[in-house]
Amino acid sequence: MNCTQWLSRDELEALQHDKLLRLVEYANQYIPYYQRIFKEIGFQPGDLEPDLSNLDTLPVLTKALIRDNYQDLITTEPERRHQMSQLATSGSTGEPLTFMQDNNFRDVVTADIQRHISWAGWQLGDSQAFIWGAKLDPTIRQRLRLAWIDRVWNRFQMDAFALSPSAMQAFACQTLRSNARILFGYPTSIQVFARYVRSNLFDGVTFDGVFTTAERLLPVVRQEIEEIFHTRVFNRYGTLELGGIACECESHLGLHVSVENNLVEILVDGAPSDLGQVGEVVVTNLNNYGMPFIRYQVGDFASFSAESSCPCGRSAPMLASVEGRSVEALRAANGSMVWGGFAGAPWRCLTHPSIRQFQVNQKSLKQMVFRLVPSGEIPRAVLDEIRYAVRHTFGDNCTVEFKFVDEIAPLPSGKHQYAVSELNEP
Ligand SMILES: [Zn+2]
Repeated sequence: MNCTQWLSRDELEALQHDKLLRLVEYANQYIPYYQRIFKEIGFQPGDLEPDLSNLDTLPVLTKALIRDNYQDLITTEPERRHQMSQLATSGSTGEPLTFMQDNNFRDVVTADIQRHISWAGWQLGDSQAFIWGAKLDPTIRQRLRLAWIDRVWNRFQMDAFALSPSAMQAFACQTLRSNARILFGYPTSIQVFARYVRSNLFDGVTFDGVFTTAERLLPVVRQEIEEIFHTRVFNRYGTLELGGIACECESHLGLHVSVENNLVEILVDGAPSDLGQVGEVVVTNLNNYGMPFIRYQVGDFASFSAESSCPCGRSAPMLASVEGRSVEALRAANGSMVWGGFAGAPWRCLTHPSIRQFQVNQKSLKQMVFRLVPSGEIPRAVLDEIRYAVRHTFGDNCTVEFKFVDEIAPLPSGKHQYAVSELNEP
């Protein structure tokens, strides 16, 4: 990927087209869902030659379709079925999704991250600081594995669900000790850490680049982070089910799409958007053969940049804006700030198939309200797990109230915000 980023637009499109054809042919051979759909609409993989003008004959894949056709979306190829892992995400809209991924898919995702952080000058071996959601009560084996991965990549982490003053002090000291030049994490969590660094006069904590991901980056947050860390923010857009989709380069004029891995469409009323026009993000991942997502509706909104070239010399198309997950930082009773993303290992309970959608509302330091749209009956054990995760994160005295509702209304913007704080202070 370090080489392909310098290909011309034509070469990149040819490479992407090639990978798409291979994926669609594979789906036609091994994926029962697509075998059925292709038959119903009279589609053949050859219809995508010589160009992609027929791509829109394929229906968009929604989260509801994935849930309803889960088994039929998994490959029937015997060897590949042994090399897959099951993952789950709460996505950008609080609608949980479970899916399968090829083992080689994860390797490509890691390579894509390393490529992106190299745009800020990072080189293999340089230290990296991460603010990320850590697993609740990991087993010794999981701890050892994570420690081993951190060592291999020369990186260290702070738990985004427990941003206490002592944790942030230790993280700042480690940043100085290891001379970490890259900080990677959620915008709202990085903002909390940046404010801590400023108020505690950790002047030496600076970076060559701060990479934000997994939620919407507000301009005011970007500006504050850049001022405090004396560096530029590189906004990166990716999801667990698709890996890296796009990232800002050192020119900061937009987010270059990882065209080798994902074919991105932006649709308005089902048709391609104009340049600069915001529409729904629809992505075909080109690497996950175990459970192919072809024209998958992510649930985010974005626009393509009208810039036809970038001073960095890369010719991959750019996204001008991404309106992803919208969250608010929450607060625990002990004063720690808590990432409001409710994604990742501690909140795997929220991705249970019986929960169609959720929204979390922090009423006070002692009360959380979970609004849940059930799909069938939510098992008691799942509700107990949520209660446990809340107490672990927000404090033993924090109570949980569940409200079972038919739907959760979006914000006036049309987006779902699934973490809402009603605390008076930020
Ligand atoms: Zn560029």
